[in-house]
Amino acid sequence: MLRARGVRKSFGPLEVLRGIDMDVAAGEVVVLLGPSGSGKSTFLRCINHLETPDGGSIHVAGRLIGFRAQGGRVHHLRPREVTRQRRDIGMVFQHFNLFPHQTVLQNVIEAPVGVLRRPKAEARKRAHGLLARVGLSDKADAYPRQLSGGQQQRVAIARALAMQPKLMLFDEPTSALDPELVGEVLATMRDLAQDGLTMVVVTHEISFAKEAADRVVFMDEGRVLESGPPSVLDRPSNPRTRAFLRRFL
Ligand code: ADP
Ligand code: MG
Repeated sequence: MLRARGVRKSFGPLEVLRGIDMDVAAGEVVVLLGPSGSGKSTFLRCINHLETPDGGSIHVAGRLIGFRAQGGRVHHLRPREVTRQRRDIGMVFQHFNLFPHQTVLQNVIEAPVGVLRRPKAEARKRAHGLLARVGLSDKADAYPRQLSGGQQQRVAIARALAMQPKLMLFDEPTSALDPELVGEVLATMRDLAQDGLTMVVVTHEISFAKEAADRVVFMDEGRVLESGPPSVLDRPSNPRTRAFLRRFL
């Protein structure tokens, strides 16, 4: 579902990604760990067209991100083609960015109706199903400000799922939440993982990585230091990985 090869990105003189390789199979859950500033967000943003890599390649569901081949040559995608490619990818951020003047239901049907041109009745029906899936059946008519942070983040997850993405990216989805609200969001994400959604999750929640990840990947200074099954969390081989994990003990 995701294949990244040698992805590089610099901001001015700062080399943020120094050749990232990553493979994620359909249905796999990969947790991406690493110290602040190691390039995790930048990597997710490259996958989702929010940044343009300086080098390397990223394929999502077999499609080369940002480019298309035509007549034996490779062209940058036009804005409309970028929009189409982005539909395959759902992203959930630390800050939920819900539309404040729209109800929960309106937030969830916005893109399916506005972008995919789905009939409203059908979009509403699906939205109710998604809200049930994230445990918010009773909040369809509420406004974001009437919800807790954890509930808002679950709406954001439902909103991303409404586009039926092939790949879901989560960038520290619980980092902005009060501690008592973290569990409900992680529980929702665990359910999605169990349902076979393909997910790349940046998080510092080691317990989530242990329970839900098929694989964990450690990044540091723009490189992948180590990757493997969640058991590497108990005995990391790289000293920098060990030093990073010691903070969570
Ligand atoms: P992480 O998510 O692992 O904390 P980021 O990908 O957010 O790391 O950032 C990696 C480095 O890139 C940081 O030093 C950050 O300040 C820098 N950076 C990120 N985005 C930009 C940008 N748009 N312009 C300049 N520097 C940036
Ligand atoms: Mg980040």
